[in-house]
Amino acid sequence: QASLSAYDPSLSSAIAEETERQEAHIELIASENYASRYVMEAQGSQLTNKYAEGYPGKRYYGGCEFVDKVEKLAIERACDLFSADYANVQPHSGAQANAAVFMALVSPGDTVLGMSLAHGGHLTHGAAPNFSGKHYNAVQYGLNPETGEIDYAEVERLAREHQPKMIIAGFSAYSRVVDWRRFRTIADEVGAWLMVDMAHVAGLVAAGLYPSPLPHAHVVTTTTHKTLRGPRGGLILSSHSDESLHKKLNGAVFPGQQGGPLMHVIAAKAVAFREAMSQEFVTYQQQVIDNARVMAGVFIDRGYDVVSGGTDDHLFLVSLIRQGVTGKDADAALGRAHITVNKNSVPNDPQSPFVTSGLRIGTPAVTTRGFGTDDCEQLAGWICDILDVLAEQGSTTAVEAEVREKTEGLCARYPVYAESAATTAS
Ligand code: PLP
Repeated sequence: QASLSAYDPSLSSAIAEETERQEAHIELIASENYASRYVMEAQGSQLTNKYAEGYPGKRYYGGCEFVDKVEKLAIERACDLFSADYANVQPHSGAQANAAVFMALVSPGDTVLGMSLAHGGHLTHGAAPNFSGKHYNAVQYGLNPETGEIDYAEVERLAREHQPKMIIAGFSAYSRVVDWRRFRTIADEVGAWLMVDMAHVAGLVAAGLYPSPLPHAHVVTTTTHKTLRGPRGGLILSSHSDESLHKKLNGAVFPGQQGGPLMHVIAAKAVAFREAMSQEFVTYQQQVIDNARVMAGVFIDRGYDVVSGGTDDHLFLVSLIRQGVTGKDADAALGRAHITVNKNSVPNDPQSPFVTSGLRIGTPAVTTRGFGTDDCEQLAGWICDILDVLAEQGSTTAVEAEVREKTEGLCARYPVYAESAATTAS
């Protein structure tokens, strides 16, 4: 049989271009990472061919004896890794994991309380265009504009006023440690379920470097592809030993939200959970945090505002309000220098969510390819060099070219999928 490149050159060359982009550009999008070859091998396996509606031992299709083994391994490992009593490894994505929890715990029209998108929450935490904002009465909390930290007093006040059936904690853009216990106290006070979406910090939690929400939340959701470094996918966990809750959650995933599980992705989740149990993974996550701290420090030293004044996790937000620079322009200029970030709203942002006045910067991907603190310090300096010119309203063409050359040199030193890269070592 001909290779993909011979059979379908236009598709194959687009894949090759993306592969090259991932090697030759510096990836600072906080939600991205490079999966290991083990993860990609499992995901590219024959398991993609198998229908397995149902759960291990209770399937609607024949021939499931081997995929049952795979799903059981994934469940056991997820429970071990996060000290959970219950895991559902079937959600196709983080958004679908969250939709299943909504379906299990609340009814359309019920009040839910989550962090607003503009302050660092996710679309599925009650944003207007999402199912969570359309079908539920979503009330939103945010950050204290003075401290840049979650305004727990506001969460408490809104909970008392609106009596939500479910409170959602967790974030897509927040650089501090969330007080999960405080959220549970508030939820208990108003008789609400507490759902924590730990998608961004799941890898740090697995490594024991960020507090686990499992002892506090009734239900925890996550994606498996961010700091956790597995395949794209979702996961639901609980250490709330209530069999009826587990049954409701399983029923909400299948048949509630999904049909057949993606068994090849579940196999890839299983191998990612195994990798996350290693000492190398703990070392990796510590480096992710160290790299984020060093980078945030450079921005502060160079006169930029970092929201909440620093970071305890894998990401931080730079506010460009004082410089009068938009996130959109900064994102575009850095992109031309082969540095990929994303524009992000910041507290008190005068710009629309499409333009913004901020950047979100995360270190999981660069750390996987081997960047250490010295590399990250340099890199943050190059980003500031470009932002300085943007702030002075000058032309960025020359500085972009200079930085692009340095970016290329750094990427060449740390190939992503070479034999020595961290992605193949564990
Ligand atoms: N939850 C959080 C906190 C996220 O940041 C994201 C993705 O960015 C999701 C859920 C959604 O995950 P997915 O893109 O897999 O649906």
